Amino acid sequence: MSDTPGFGFDTLQIHAGARPDSATGARQTPIYQTTAYVFRDADHAAALFNLQEVGFIYSRLTNPTVAVLQERMATLEGGAGAVCCSSGHAAQIMALFPLMAPGLNIVASTRLYGGTITQFSQTIKRFGWSCTFVDFDDLDAVRAAIDENTRAVFCESIANPGGYITDLDAIAKIADDAQIPLIVDNTSASPYLCRPIEHGATLVVHSLTKYLTGNGTVTGGVVVDSGKFDWSATDKFPSLSAPEPAYHGLKFHETFGPLAFTFHGIAIGLRDLGMTLNPQAAHYTLMGTETLSLRMQKHVENARTVAAWLENHPAVEAVTYAGLPSSPYHDRIARICPNGAGALFTVALKDGYEACMKLVDSLEIFSHVANLGDARSLVIHSASTTHRQLTEAQQIAAGAAPNVVRISIGIEDPNDLIADLDQALAKASA
Ligand SMILES: *Cc1c(COP(=O)(O)O)cnc(C)c1O
Repeated sequence: MSDTPGFGFDTLQIHAGARPDSATGARQTPIYQTTAYVFRDADHAAALFNLQEVGFIYSRLTNPTVAVLQERMATLEGGAGAVCCSSGHAAQIMALFPLMAPGLNIVASTRLYGGTITQFSQTIKRFGWSCTFVDFDDLDAVRAAIDENTRAVFCESIANPGGYITDLDAIAKIADDAQIPLIVDNTSASPYLCRPIEHGATLVVHSLTKYLTGNGTVTGGVVVDSGKFDWSATDKFPSLSAPEPAYHGLKFHETFGPLAFTFHGIAIGLRDLGMTLNPQAAHYTLMGTETLSLRMQKHVENARTVAAWLENHPAVEAVTYAGLPSSPYHDRIARICPNGAGALFTVALKDGYEACMKLVDSLEIFSHVANLGDARSLVIHSASTTHRQLTEAQQIAAGAAPNVVRISIGIEDPNDLIADLDQALAKASA
């Protein structure tokens, strides 16, 4: 079962991309723990290396277990193709790599995962790329930040750490007018809650590390391509539209059409950057995707319950969860993430930084870790950890002010989570 329009999400999350193993009949997708694949003959090998025939050569580029996950992710996101990578951060570099060159820039939201802000504000400079950060609720500011050297607009659907919901349709329109792709990091939502391509995104990136695997066992990423962007409409994207010297002048867009970005990601990106997902990690992630909708429903239900309880607690100054009617982002749920606002939000404490430190030290069910999207409930004080590299102004803009803790609600019994928060808040404000 592969491209299967008409099937529901619950069916696709189990079956898309997978078929019984042709050699053994194995029903579950085997872990193809192999580096290389025997060529039928010398002509077959040459055709594979020339991209004239699609097949398996070497697991840095393609692997049958990883290929199933790629097809499943493309299907769940409604894309044309996908490339798995070694981490969510690798996926971000892999998404930008074909678009960028020294001197070019991207425009990104101020509300991003802390590591992404560091990657975009510091590390990409080494490639000669730069990033302009703007408030994506200010559409004029987004428009004004785009110049002739901008090659992508980047945001998160449900943005870390506050669970803010981005108006993807409005941002996609701005990117479209500028003839550049919108890249959406859909990690905090997962394709069950939000499908950015339906709102005009060109590329969707994920950290598979989070909800898609769902149990904190894997580090992985994926880039899904909508297949809808016309890379040849301008001369802005020569890697995809112009002759590629490494493949005898092949033009990716002309040759592969809607799969141009995906083929480029494998044939150039994985070949030369080597940010490959290993088959064992792909297997764990495939297991995770099978229960994605069930887990996300429970995550959302628990988050609603716990956030509503926290909002009424006397030690709490504010809760950012978009699922609360008090949130300025509440109105966007029905349009952008109709199955719920996720399970990630921040809590600001009246007693400030010290109370936050005491809270994370006093919680017993919640684990104090730098992760989110686990079956377990997790907590972190962003300002002293994930957002530590940022200035206080950047922390506040990113929703990670010093008096704020980020909470990722798991799928435990919500009464137990509330009891744990209750005893820890009592200690924090003592
Ligand atoms: C975790 C995360 C990343 C980075 O993913 P890794 O797998 O840790 O590299 C990027 N974006 C968001 C929203 C994340 O939560």
